[in-house]
Amino acid sequence: MTAKATPASGAGKAASPGKKKPAARKTAPATLQGRLAKLGLKSRFDLVLHLPLRYEDETRITPVAELVDGAFAQVEGEIAEATIQYRPRRTLIVKLVEPGGALHLRFLNFYGSQVKQLTEGKRLLVSGEARTGFFGAEMIHPRYREVETGAPLPASLTPVYPATAGLGQATLRRVVVGAIASAEKDGQLTDTAPRGASARLGLMPFAEAIHALHFPAPGAGPATLDRNAHPAWRRMKFDELLAQQLSLQSAYRARRLESAPRLAPGPVPSGEPLQERLLAALPFALTGAQRRVQGEIGRDLEAPHPMRRLLQGDVGSGKTIVAALAACRAIDCGYQAVFMAPTEILAEQHYRKLTHWLEPLGVRIAWLSGSLKKRDKAAAAQRIADGAAQLAIGTHALFQDSVSFDKLGLVIVDEQHRFGVGQRLALTHKGAHAEPDQVETLATPPLPNGMEQGQALAQKAGGLVPHQLMMSATPIPRTLAMTFYADLDVSVIDEMPPGRTPVKTKLVADTRRDEVVARILEACGAGRQVYWVCPLIEESETLQLKTAVETHERLTAMLPGLTVGLVHGRQKPAEKAAAMAQFVAGATDVLVATTVIEVGVDVPNASLMVVEHAERFGLSQLHQLRGRVGRGEDESVCILLYQHPLSENARQRLKVMFESTDGFEIARADLQLRGPGEFLGTAQSGVPLLRFADLEADVELIEQARDCATQMLDGADPLAAAHLARWLGSRESYLMT
Ligand code: ADP
Ligand code: MG
Repeated sequence: MTAKATPASGAGKAASPGKKKPAARKTAPATLQGRLAKLGLKSRFDLVLHLPLRYEDETRITPVAELVDGAFAQVEGEIAEATIQYRPRRTLIVKLVEPGGALHLRFLNFYGSQVKQLTEGKRLLVSGEARTGFFGAEMIHPRYREVETGAPLPASLTPVYPATAGLGQATLRRVVVGAIASAEKDGQLTDTAPRGASARLGLMPFAEAIHALHFPAPGAGPATLDRNAHPAWRRMKFDELLAQQLSLQSAYRARRLESAPRLAPGPVPSGEPLQERLLAALPFALTGAQRRVQGEIGRDLEAPHPMRRLLQGDVGSGKTIVAALAACRAIDCGYQAVFMAPTEILAEQHYRKLTHWLEPLGVRIAWLSGSLKKRDKAAAAQRIADGAAQLAIGTHALFQDSVSFDKLGLVIVDEQHRFGVGQRLALTHKGAHAEPDQVETLATPPLPNGMEQGQALAQKAGGLVPHQLMMSATPIPRTLAMTFYADLDVSVIDEMPPGRTPVKTKLVADTRRDEVVARILEACGAGRQVYWVCPLIEESETLQLKTAVETHERLTAMLPGLTVGLVHGRQKPAEKAAAMAQFVAGATDVLVATTVIEVGVDVPNASLMVVEHAERFGLSQLHQLRGRVGRGEDESVCILLYQHPLSENARQRLKVMFESTDGFEIARADLQLRGPGEFLGTAQSGVPLLRFADLEADVELIEQARDCATQMLDGADPLAAAHLARWLGSRESYLMT
């Protein structure tokens, strides 16, 4: 039996040695309340909704001869022998016999009191996972208690709750039962979803579902409470999804009540609108998809309430020009726009591109870079503050530092996914209990980073909230868009600019590096450029840096006729910018880089990318990296170097990369391989996502919950607030990450 079952077990009077470990005692909070809080259980309803992970069948006794390897079972017998053995390590072995056979109990951690208790002739009821060991059937660290012959067994399954150190099953059961009883007494277990919807969808009443899950019916086997099939689970999943939908949809509606500058097309002082002039000056025509999303954004900008739109498009689909066109509209209407990027390299690139496009049209642009001298930075900030600059470009960090705007109308955030949903929706914790109007505050995600400040400043200036356009190259699978992004409007560029040849991907074992060098020589001989991406070393940034520097030295030695550049995250901004500028200008043939080039960098002449230790990268990261090539007309190649042995998951990732260049398909595979928590970048934040519903399996329920939430909000159904209070309760940010 594994450690997992030991500390989490320990029912009734059962002794559970794992629980008494000093280490566990040291880390566990001192009070019961503290320990419950560690599981996120603060309110009564948190306890009511603390649903069992699984069930154990203590309703029957299994004869030793019928034990199944790895399965939970309960055995009753008499102690025939108890000995302490010292090899391989100190172990208490208790031989339990029953008429049909013998079962050995092994205790690796035990106390003197147990040795005294577990003596020959005692009758025990033991339960745990059976396995076949050295002596035959055995259980490691089973739960046990002394019993009389023929003592009655429980009539129903025993729920097993998610537990934590110092908080065992017995205590959890007690507090959960107490919470349910008191909620019931106060008439609080009523349905908070509309009756009509529940009837139409054939949902089990809430109270009935709570009973079914916490107190399984006598005679029900563990399989009858299957999470994916039982109507009680379906009710819970629906209610959870309904709460999420109510919360996000009400955030969406709340935003419609705010005021934003109306950025409508109209007569402009210069005669012809900037948008038209920019389009006329471009060396290319917009794709159909670009025109469509330009229209969607344009309509939002005209509205009197703030836009909050996510512009999605695969790497290279041409999001930047769409953003630039939106900025043109704001500027024509006499407002400022700000364009923020997650890295200095990317911000610099946008600055160059937008300057190239817009300065000839007379647009005044301010560049806020970390590498600017203090005096220049202050001057740029001044131009932004007094309105001399119409467009400001830089990294988020720069806009966070006390930059104020004269008249901010539009905020553009590039590569939004780099910040993760966690940051987008990091909620401010307000009070313990959500009142209806507080629920909306809770549900309104603050703006990422600098935007929050931009908004505050703009509000101070004119009482208007600026529009926001967020861009992301990480496609959001449909189920995620319907759930975690339900508070946003989404536009998708689903078409690539013409003349692109898909990147060819090659998987090459690390042992065949020579071939890779030959390819580099070939590409550079034809006047093309190469990216060499160094491996991700998660444990150590220093080590990652060392590898990059060493790779640079090695490649410089191996490629005598070529210029090899280096760019990594630890360089000073100016150094980084210089290395990038050289590569953009074509002065560098091969650019050795860490993942700093992952996002957005656009050098069409680069046609070969080598990724070392590709097996260490995540799928979306590989897709982003690969998107750096294939931006010109010639065919590009991406070589994924990998080292054996490959984990199954790594093999899957490489296979997906080899087989697909479609960002949506890759994102779907990524979501499947990593799960929503990792995918959304919230796994580390510790904030639970949906606890019960499953995005893949419950698509139909998601749709039903979405429609139900819309109807409730349309009809101002008072149940909405009650439902949110129940499900959000004391959780600051349960539904949104
Ligand atoms: P991403 O969506 O990844 O941010 P970019 O905006 O950097 O993509 O665009 C990639 C490249 O394609 C840029 O060089 C851009 O100028 C170019 N581009 C954008 N739209 C078109 C188009 N309609 N036709 C041709 N090239 C385009
Ligand atoms: Mg981009």
